[in-house]
Amino acid sequence: MTAASAREVKELLRRHGVIAKKGYGQNFLVDGRVLDGIVRAVEPDARTVVLEVGPGLGALTAALAARAKRVVAIEKDASLRPALEEVLGPHGNAEVLYEDCLKVDLRALVEPRLEAGDRLVFAANLPYYVTTPILFHVLDSGLPVARAVVMVQKEVADRMVASPGSKDYGVLSVGVQYRGEVRRVFNVPPSAFLPQPGVESAVVVIDCGKRPPVRASDEEALFRVVRAAFGTRRKTLENALAAGLGAPKEMVRQKIVAAGIDPGARAEQLSLADFVRLADEVGKESGWMDGA
Ligand code: SAM
Repeated sequence: MTAASAREVKELLRRHGVIAKKGYGQNFLVDGRVLDGIVRAVEPDARTVVLEVGPGLGALTAALAARAKRVVAIEKDASLRPALEEVLGPHGNAEVLYEDCLKVDLRALVEPRLEAGDRLVFAANLPYYVTTPILFHVLDSGLPVARAVVMVQKEVADRMVASPGSKDYGVLSVGVQYRGEVRRVFNVPPSAFLPQPGVESAVVVIDCGKRPPVRASDEEALFRVVRAAFGTRRKTLENALAAGLGAPKEMVRQKIVAAGIDPGARAEQLSLADFVRLADEVGKESGWMDGA
């Protein structure tokens, strides 16, 4: 049993007396081509360790375990254990930890399972209700994630890959693009899942090894500035930042100019490099960032 088709998923659920829980974002992948596409994007090899969040019935877990060194999966729903044990039975290199991924110290959990020379990849068909919290929990865990391959709602993927000037460009675009080189691999129709979600999905790759050449001296300051800048989208940068950071407008203007940016610009026109320069300028002013 591989859980990789609608027939097998229905059969597994029935036999183990479980139902797909909407509250846990359980939409199981039942399209072999999509599973293959995710596995190809991971590029598993003999030194690849995969961290998977939400293995569900194990279709992706098994496909990855067949080609990677090992898979460490974290599943919140312990009622899936008997079905998962059946599907992963032939894969001794796949291990499932029954935990809420958002409540565990991922570094403490995964690091002891890594060896020198391992390449760590995060792969997940993410539950849509907590997509970005889980993504950032993993990317900011301190684990040496080389690449993330994630299935998200298409609308979230649009925002992740958006460039300055587009309507989708915002806090999520800057936040993800700061952490790596981002690209959409393919879109996925609702028919690839059981039960079918009401929205289109997409698979996105974030190559964290290829981080952009810009680094903020204070990353917390960067994200406060980005959130403040986009907080009131229709305002000019100067007004949005003054309001969002609770700082005097004239001083905000000086910082924007010092960063080489037009104070009348709007947040959606700024590149990641612009935001980093701006945050570095703002960060020099101690006290501003405290209340933001
Ligand atoms: N990987 C499977 C597949 O592709 O068929 C299932 C994907 S399903 C969209 C999301 C999975 O994430 C479910 O199995 C759900 O129980 C699990 N999940 C939801 N919230 C979670 C959390 N906070 N921590 C760990 N797993 C979670």
